[in-house]
Amino acid sequence: MTTHPALERAGVAAPGTPPVTPPAPPRSRPLAGPLELLLLGRGSDPDSERGVDCPGALPPASDPTLVERARTARAALGDSVFVLGHHYQRDEVIAFADVTGDSFKLAQQAAARPEAGHIVFCGVHFMAESADILTGDHQQVILPDLAAGCSMADMATAEQVEQAWETLADAGLAEGTVPVSYMNSSAAIKAFTGRHGGTICTSSNARRALEWAFGPARRGERVLFLPDQHLGRNTAVLEMGMSLDDCVVYNPHRPGGGLTREQLRDARMILWQGHCSVHGRFSLGCVDEVRARIPGITVLVHPECRHEVVTAADLVGSTEYIIKAVDEAPPGSRFAVGTELNLVQRLANRHPDKTVVFLDRTVCYCSTMNRIDLPHLVWALESLVRGETVNRITVDPDVAAYARKALDQMLALP
Ligand code: SF4
Repeated sequence: MTTHPALERAGVAAPGTPPVTPPAPPRSRPLAGPLELLLLGRGSDPDSERGVDCPGALPPASDPTLVERARTARAALGDSVFVLGHHYQRDEVIAFADVTGDSFKLAQQAAARPEAGHIVFCGVHFMAESADILTGDHQQVILPDLAAGCSMADMATAEQVEQAWETLADAGLAEGTVPVSYMNSSAAIKAFTGRHGGTICTSSNARRALEWAFGPARRGERVLFLPDQHLGRNTAVLEMGMSLDDCVVYNPHRPGGGLTREQLRDARMILWQGHCSVHGRFSLGCVDEVRARIPGITVLVHPECRHEVVTAADLVGSTEYIIKAVDEAPPGSRFAVGTELNLVQRLANRHPDKTVVFLDRTVCYCSTMNRIDLPHLVWALESLVRGETVNRITVDPDVAAYARKALDQMLALP
């Protein structure tokens, strides 16, 4: 008997296998005693759980009344609260969302509800920031768990991006360069984009953003695309007809991005070396494996996937596109979907008459999206019922003004 690869990685051996002493885990600090098992809401590891303190009582995940508590709090708050749920959230959270959508749709929805004094954003940090930028001053945005960040957004810090711009300026190239930043970036990166006459884009309008940057409105010689190299490359090559040689990757951890002045000058796309840790997992091997396993299957992936995966797929599109493609397909259709697992699972449950499988054979949720669970949502809602606002996300007004400029530019894209 063999062991499933996931169990193998977790150190679970097949029956009959002689015991093997596992290698010692890496230690970032001296241990005072045996490692403690930390249960949700009962303690935290300050090394790995910065910012996740929940002052007050976080309900235990085992509380059987959680659903009832969420319902009661939601009903007590009425229209004064609007709950937004990103498509990648857990079902237990989505059940309480007033609206679901991708990050941009949710921010727009928040802005369209001025009567809601509190917006509870079940998503990740950059999304809550965008909601704060787009909503009125009287509205407060809450992220139920402050540890719900985004590894991709974290791959481009304001300091690194300013340094990259300086490199371009020193090379005499900044003037001809237009920053185009993916929605999945911090407010500071959006503000940088607005300050330098660029635009924000989503996975649905990335092509229009590039056409605008290179077209008569901006006449850019090149684009600095932040922070997802895959979305930038896939859009440039597969939708704009550029070649892979037109793209260079700027590594923020190397002097000058690891590129020569000539490479920067000749590039049409300077791609920031960032990626989504969920979509970046899918490989060409996953596509080959699923095609061999399920003949005739349609491979449907998000453009945050690697170029070779997107090239090998049958259909490519944003989260909203993926949902529509599966929803509208006739019964009996078969899809292998390359996006976050919570959404794939939800699509599979919603369409028992269709085959919907995850593109990778190993399980991978977005770990930060999954930080928002029912205990955190109940905690945020019940705090509001008591008149306390917890985990409020605010963006500095100067940063917000420039970020808004870049977001408005996106809205004005032809
Ligand atoms: S799925 Fe990827 S881009 Fe989205 S929040 Fe998670 S890490 Fe960030």
